[in-house]
Amino acid sequence: MPYLIDPDDLGSLFPNEPSYRADQLRSWLYEHPVLSADQMTNLPAHMRDEISDKLWPFSVETEQTADNGTTMKWLFRAPDGNAIEAVLMGYPKRNTLCISSQAGCALGCTFCATGQFGFDRHLEPGEIYAQVAYASAYLAASPLEGCPDHLTNIVYMGMGEPLANYARVRESLRRIIEVRGLGARSITVSTVGVVPGMLRLAEEPWQVTLAVSLHAADDELRSSLVPLNKRYPIAEVEAAAAKFFDAKGRRVSLEWTLIDGVNDTLEQARKLAPIAERLQSHVNVIALNPTPLSPDRPSRPERIESFMSELNRLGVNSTLRHMRGQDIDAACGQLRARSEPKRGSAQRVEIGKR
Ligand code: SAH
Ligand code: SF4
Repeated sequence: MPYLIDPDDLGSLFPNEPSYRADQLRSWLYEHPVLSADQMTNLPAHMRDEISDKLWPFSVETEQTADNGTTMKWLFRAPDGNAIEAVLMGYPKRNTLCISSQAGCALGCTFCATGQFGFDRHLEPGEIYAQVAYASAYLAASPLEGCPDHLTNIVYMGMGEPLANYARVRESLRRIIEVRGLGARSITVSTVGVVPGMLRLAEEPWQVTLAVSLHAADDELRSSLVPLNKRYPIAEVEAAAAKFFDAKGRRVSLEWTLIDGVNDTLEQARKLAPIAERLQSHVNVIALNPTPLSPDRPSRPERIESFMSELNRLGVNSTLRHMRGQDIDAACGQLRARSEPKRGSAQRVEIGKR
């Protein structure tokens, strides 16, 4: 399992080979990832053979495309049965990969499919990085229609709360930035407000972007959507975001999932405006992607429009993001929902029919 080994320790896989072989292997894993070990042309056949069936730390269970071939979703399966999902979104000038940092999530946000199914385990740094390597290898072999042939951006917005898996996520960032060489500025870490993790990330040497999933601008409403808010209320999250901005000189962005009749009111927009203003934040608005275990619905277009024009009137910059891959359950909060029939499937069917 070469991806599960520290990139500086790859020599341990081949103790009888000269050390430049480990460098060659590292280059195949980190600089020019390939889908199969046969493509590692400068390695001797016996080395390729030895790693060929254990190159990836997971098997590829399904690969789906949507949006005219510009969105790809992979469901990877770890040997212990856990699902790891990643979504690649291609645009004319960039390719953004959305990666998972945990199998499941323990934080239980009410509107999120990952949260609804609970926590299984943390992903290892190699399992996080391997999602990046796999998408890179895929793109090099078959670029998405009309999109670049390499990965340009990474967002930690798949399954899991990255800052609740801090040390492993940190190591995955180190591998992406320092070993692979992707610019830190092209990486976004999204958090629901794990304050200690935000403060630690502010101390790291990398200029990554931090996105805070706010969704509500007063503690009462936020605690009802995001249980972690009871532990780290809005004022503490805002203070940590401000520290991040101070330390990095990089504005934190705010994420807001609009739920019909819940957080799409003018009152919420008016409470959000001063927070966004103090942090000089851009607000990314997305309409809820409905999930099987919650009756919540996305806001209607006219409510989205009035919420956003109120922000605009109050001087806050916001963008409405469109969901990619809704038809393949690749959209935010949908990852894993349908991939694990083993839990709660009867319940899901019932509620889904309501
Ligand atoms: N745990 C982190 C990162 C993973 S979730 C976080 O919460 O930020 C990535 C984004 O998807 C978050 O902004 C989250 O609020 C959003 N999201 C979750 N469920 C969603 C849903 N059903 N519809 C739309 N966005 C959702
Ligand atoms: Fe976890 Fe993020 Fe989903 Fe909340 S929104 S349950 S923090 S993955």
